[in-house]
Amino acid sequence: MESNLHFATDGSDIDLKLPKSPRRLSRLCHTLSRGDVGVVFHSLSMLPIFINAELLPFVASLRSGQDLQNFQPNSPQADLFACLDRYGMLVDVNADEYELVREIANEHLGTPRISVLYLVVTDDCNFACSYCAVESRFAEPTVHTRLTASHASQAILLFRKYVDRSAPRPRIVFYGGEPMLNFELIKSATNLVEHLIKRGDLPQTTRIHVITNGSLLTDQSATWLAQHQIQVSVSMDGRQFAHDSSRKLRSGHGTFDLALRGYRCLQSKGIRPSISWTITEENVDHLLPDVEWIVDELDPPAMGFTIRIDTPGHVRTTDRFVMEATQALLACFQLLRSRGISEDRVTRKARSLASGQIWIKDCAGCGNQLVISPHGRIGVCQAYTATGSCFPGDLNQSEPFNPSLDPVFREWSNRSPLSMPACYSCIALGNCGGGCPAGAECVSGSIWCPDERFCVFSRATLEWLIWDIHKQRSATQVAH
Ligand code: SF4
Ligand code: SF4
Repeated sequence: MESNLHFATDGSDIDLKLPKSPRRLSRLCHTLSRGDVGVVFHSLSMLPIFINAELLPFVASLRSGQDLQNFQPNSPQADLFACLDRYGMLVDVNADEYELVREIANEHLGTPRISVLYLVVTDDCNFACSYCAVESRFAEPTVHTRLTASHASQAILLFRKYVDRSAPRPRIVFYGGEPMLNFELIKSATNLVEHLIKRGDLPQTTRIHVITNGSLLTDQSATWLAQHQIQVSVSMDGRQFAHDSSRKLRSGHGTFDLALRGYRCLQSKGIRPSISWTITEENVDHLLPDVEWIVDELDPPAMGFTIRIDTPGHVRTTDRFVMEATQALLACFQLLRSRGISEDRVTRKARSLASGQIWIKDCAGCGNQLVISPHGRIGVCQAYTATGSCFPGDLNQSEPFNPSLDPVFREWSNRSPLSMPACYSCIALGNCGGGCPAGAECVSGSIWCPDERFCVFSRATLEWLIWDIHKQRSATQVAH
């Protein structure tokens, strides 16, 4: 998923050799400013160079070709020109730097590399959450289906065939609806997975994961999950008021007490469940205090946040809400970082920025997962379970399914900002991952449009992280 494109990041030892031909600022370079500090940032190398903001007009002038000999030797302009050139931020006036983007895309995209198996063990749920991406795509009335043991076995054997054995953490995820409605299936499928791991047919590092609303957990089922070292995520959206505003039973009653009871039941058996949290218009105002409360009360090892995705039944999420959610999430990120609790959404961007490694895709549906619907269909993304679109394969067919040969899997494997020209001029090109293709399709009609909701989050987070680096770094990187 990640490229090894690295650029030097220290500001020492600037090479003052004269570049031969006129040079111009790369179209992949962007500028930011705050007070008297400016930043020149390369969207692929992800190197920020902090400068005196007074030099920003000079940087802007470099968008057309310049020679170093145009500047006074040892002047701030000459030094900055040489520094930018050294770090790949200046290019030949005739260069096509977008060609580099296309080359990286060609090298890393287009072929599925499967590391996740999503088993949607039922499309039924005892909750009726207002934002559910699965439920919202059903036409009414709905007949719900459960995955059979036979289809689950076929799916696991298919995963065994195509799993990328170099993937660091292959995962099998039991998902729904509410997966605990089909607990017998979870048990039999887990037995098969354990057998295959033992025989060396699946990587030793394969992990099993259940994502549940927590309400159906019992002492018995929690004991079984603990015995089999299953990782569990419980969906919780905050304290009672925030959680209950979206996560309700069909009767309209809130589900906070049920989720909390399930969480504590797992804890009593020695499991440390992570928390899966959807940020909505209803809970965004309480996010930081609620996260603090959850951390103090439940001590989760990890928390995963999703900003509510657009669904067919939900009018487009507003930029204003996404910006509020982003600011709140960044505050939570700082809190969780200080408490040593893992948070994936911002952390993956922070890691990519710190290491200079391009974050190519955010969505495992883009070539990294097989999703099995309760009917035994094989697809790319669980959000389409109800409609069956993007589910090109079928376990019932005699012809074995090969994701590498399937046009839908190949198309999704190609989706990344690096293959989307609309993203080339964006500051977040190398750090973004492209968000959720299903959300993009819902808003704009195609997975090939940027996920605009995610764009707001992605750009704001990147800018925050760049200024966070500035806060933490010594002044040695400030050129002047
Ligand atoms: S498109 Fe990707 S990110 Fe969006 S719901 Fe599907 S798998 Fe998740
Ligand atoms: S998806 Fe949006 S934020 Fe991400 S690179 Fe493309 S335009 Fe930028």
